[in-house]
Amino acid sequence: MSSSPSTLRAHFTLAPDGRWVDGGGVTVRAGRIERFCATAAEVRRGGGPVLDLGDVVLLPGFVAAHTHLDLSGFEGRVPPGRSFPSWIRALLGVRGSLPEADLRRATRATAEQLVAGGTTCVGDIDATGRLAAVARGLRLRVRRYREVLDAGDGRRAGAVLGALASGSRRDPLWTEGISPHAPYTVSAELWAALARHVRRRRTAVAIHWAETREERAWLEHGRGPFADLLASSPRRSGLDAIEAAGLLGPRTALIHGNDATTAERERVARSGAAIVHCPGTHAFFEREPFDAEAWRAAGVPLALGTDSLASNADLDMRREMALFRAGHPGFRPAEVLDLATGAAARAVGLAGRVGTLAAGAWADLAAHAAPGKRASERLDAITRGLGAPLAVWVGGRRTESGPNQDSPASRIGKQTRGAQNEDARRTP
Ligand SMILES: [Zn+2]
Repeated sequence: MSSSPSTLRAHFTLAPDGRWVDGGGVTVRAGRIERFCATAAEVRRGGGPVLDLGDVVLLPGFVAAHTHLDLSGFEGRVPPGRSFPSWIRALLGVRGSLPEADLRRATRATAEQLVAGGTTCVGDIDATGRLAAVARGLRLRVRRYREVLDAGDGRRAGAVLGALASGSRRDPLWTEGISPHAPYTVSAELWAALARHVRRRRTAVAIHWAETREERAWLEHGRGPFADLLASSPRRSGLDAIEAAGLLGPRTALIHGNDATTAERERVARSGAAIVHCPGTHAFFEREPFDAEAWRAAGVPLALGTDSLASNADLDMRREMALFRAGHPGFRPAEVLDLATGAAARAVGLAGRVGTLAAGAWADLAAHAAPGKRASERLDAITRGLGAPLAVWVGGRRTESGPNQDSPASRIGKQTRGAQNEDARRTP
């Protein structure tokens, strides 16, 4: 990666404060954004060759705050089922029947598709190490949450945590986190051990919480379909278990939060934890409408994720934004874009480092074509899923898993003028 700067210019650029800038851009050096250029004059002074991207919208890459890329090979194989526990049982049943080589291929292909769709960072739950096994050369930033669970059997807690000591992946695009799977699969002993582990490392945490009403029925009363799947109920709420372990705080992303009481929303708000909503998966299970408005009113940071291909037809963040907008017309397009960029970055503990074009952030960007003349029309189109990423950069490097080379993307980088042409194409 070159340490000499270069500057990208676009018709419209999303400024770090949410304004739209006409004819501005960003200066990139050594994989990071060195400067946001709010005017044409600032672009000229930006540094290094100027790469004119033309009539595009330059955005930070989307951040999918919740994925399970290692489940990509399960696409279309597990129907929603009668209840959530029956879906889990079906998923576990299919798991052993698929060749590992196929699952790895699907994982890599899905990761590349994500990037091609303009997503440059994922908060990914890693239960198997499969993504790490296929990540060589992959230009995708990964907050990798190592999944831990003991199915409520506290005797396994020590071994489960011990396994975390091995298998960390050294890659500048990866940062580690931890994911206690859910209150119904983590024993009291494992919660206690996790509390010590997280306190020592101050690491980012993701926990599936309050996905279904059945979850609460079992956790608090030992009733409902989860009783067929699990041993004895802890007889306390999921949020109580998370809080007792010291894990209800600003470094935690709670995934789903579909079945929350008003009092729980207020507790989550006070804690600083984020809620990650996955519109495609929500639709797959035909859940009752997600109360994004109530979470917003409570002051809880919201973000969008995709969950996995086992419960979603696609992991494209453009589609997630479009689904969200369709279900939540009270959210402005700019807010919806934030749910997939800046807010999602906060949810995965990477605020200021991804999901923004601010100086100091990693240069994870995408240039989108979108219909419309004004910036507001293009924003409207992009958040309705109508944009097309023409080029995607991660850490300042143009990705090859981006759009195919016959697309207009191939022309980006050939629009610079004069002697700057060759340099501009090399860097970033
Ligand atoms: Zn999930």
